Amino acid sequence: MLYDVLIIGAGPAGMTAGIYAKRANLNVAIFEKYAPGGQIINTAEIENYTGYQKMSGYELATHMLKHTESLSVEIKYEEVLEVIDEGKVKKVVTPDATYETKVVIIASGTVPRRLGVENEDMLASRGISWCAICDGPMYKNKEVIVVGGGNSAVEEASYLATLATKVTVIQDMPHLTADKKAQDILTSKANVDFRFSSKVNKFVLGNSGEMLGVEITNSKGEKEVINADGAFEYIGLIPVTTFVSKLGITNKFGYIEANEKMETKVAGVYGAGDSNVKQIRQVVTATSDGAIAVQNALKYLETLN
Ligand SMILES: Cc1cc2nc3c(=O)[nH]c(=O)nc-3n(C[C@H](O)[C@H](O)[C@H](O)COP(=O)(O)OP(=O)(O)OC[C@H]3O[C@@H](n4cnc5c(N)ncnc54)[C@H](O)[C@@H]3O)c2cc1C
Repeated sequence: MLYDVLIIGAGPAGMTAGIYAKRANLNVAIFEKYAPGGQIINTAEIENYTGYQKMSGYELATHMLKHTESLSVEIKYEEVLEVIDEGKVKKVVTPDATYETKVVIIASGTVPRRLGVENEDMLASRGISWCAICDGPMYKNKEVIVVGGGNSAVEEASYLATLATKVTVIQDMPHLTADKKAQDILTSKANVDFRFSSKVNKFVLGNSGEMLGVEITNSKGEKEVINADGAFEYIGLIPVTTFVSKLGITNKFGYIEANEKMETKVAGVYGAGDSNVKQIRQVVTATSDGAIAVQNALKYLETLN
């Protein structure tokens, strides 16, 4: 079977593209390797998506999935391993099959960047987490560290402060970089402490290999060990695009280079959402990209007839 559009990723960008494609009567399917919703299922609360004053990321993902399913958009729970461009037909390769399509929309998002310090691998998911909403409840009445100072770090630290007895935020810059409202909420909390201009050197282990805390160095070269039961890292993102590396459509960091129509330099291949080179990675910009990609894919499909 030859699809009109195959979408890679069922996050906000991919599901929106699926909705727009189905409503345009296109033969469409979305591939998802984990769970529909993408990064928002790991987000405690979303307060800046128009129409929803405050909602958990999981709830918003559920609304998006219900909307997608209500239109019978097919979701294939398969990981895309490669996209092959053969001109008017593109191939999407998964471990289960190779699918043929006229258009591919890449909406594969990002994954959290890791610090890359000593003992991090050993403690990954056993003391170090990248998801406060998933793992935060394990640290009720305990002490945690949050690494980072941007919106994700600051918002998730505020959430963790409602559970943990103490949250220490470690930021390598001299100040937080999150928006002012998020900063105000965090700094108003009595159980939150900050270490600015400080870098994490390593995670400190106990005798049984458990997490004891982190060792940091500040800009004066002073070392300090901060005790904690858990650590949450929010230090940036890495695009998930290795499966299109042979297409030559990514920049040196792996982000998809797409124009304002979401077109890449390969005709019929579009990029949408966080995996694109872009200024603001948010739900509202991801959904917007998904819609724009489909509107332009429609024009491209007309040229094939
Ligand atoms: C901690 C945190 C808090 C945030 N808070 C907010 C907030 O308050 N407000 C806001 O607007 N935004 C927030 N964001 C950002 C928001 O989550 C993202 O901008 C949004 O999820 C991007 O959507 P996307 O569809 O582009 O990508 P993603 O949400 O990353 O979805 C991509 C999907 O593609 C799938 N995928 C990847 N590769 C493959 C493959 N090879 N095969 C099949 N499937 C694949 C992934 O499994 C994933 O489900 C936050 C992000 C984080 C990490």
